[in-house]
Amino acid sequence: MVIINPSIMRFLFPWALWKGSGDSNGIFVTFDDGPHPQYTAPILQILREGQVPAAFFLNGSKAALHPGLVREIRLQGHVIGNHGFSHMSMEFRKKEWIRLEIAKTHEAVSRAVGCSYCPRLFRPPFGRFDPRFRRILEDMGYRMVLWSLLSRDFSENSAERLIRTVDSHLHPGAIIVFHDGHTHGPVLIEALPRILRRIRDRGFQFLSLPEEPAGTPAAKG
Ligand SMILES: [Zn+2]
Repeated sequence: MVIINPSIMRFLFPWALWKGSGDSNGIFVTFDDGPHPQYTAPILQILREGQVPAAFFLNGSKAALHPGLVREIRLQGHVIGNHGFSHMSMEFRKKEWIRLEIAKTHEAVSRAVGCSYCPRLFRPPFGRFDPRFRRILEDMGYRMVLWSLLSRDFSENSAERLIRTVDSHLHPGAIIVFHDGHTHGPVLIEALPRILRRIRDRGFQFLSLPEEPAGTPAAKG
């Protein structure tokens, strides 16, 4: 699916979580495409120092390679989400293949963190999905989470610009997406402490994404 105007996407797919309540001053920080052997640990340290809760949408193939990092994310109390196994676009694929991508990632995370924690949130690679995902995810006990603020850190070479991008698009209830699994990780690591400080200075507070069972109505915003 071509990413069209986000408000149109939210209108077409209201069952997915696109942002938190616009009535509060809550902000949700999320990271995609990890865990990464170089970048995830420093990001965890920045979050720890800032006492910021976050959600990490992991690629199953990388979670299987770095189970220690998966455990560390969870030990610090962050939410772990499912971002598919191979990071190939899942849109209009066979249902069996989609289910397998989700199930293999679920298994890799569960194996790393133990049975006491099950991922409940799913974010499709590249934000691409189709209407069948509602039923598929409900059947698997998952809920879809997209985003309302794309930081574009995956192609950003300047920490200053990354800080400005987030600052200028910040809004109440924003779900911000960063990437801890990309080659631009050093730019994110440089910018992140200032981004988080700026968000707090503007009077927002950091919240954890709700991990309610599938079928729970999405947050209004
Ligand atoms: Zn991704």
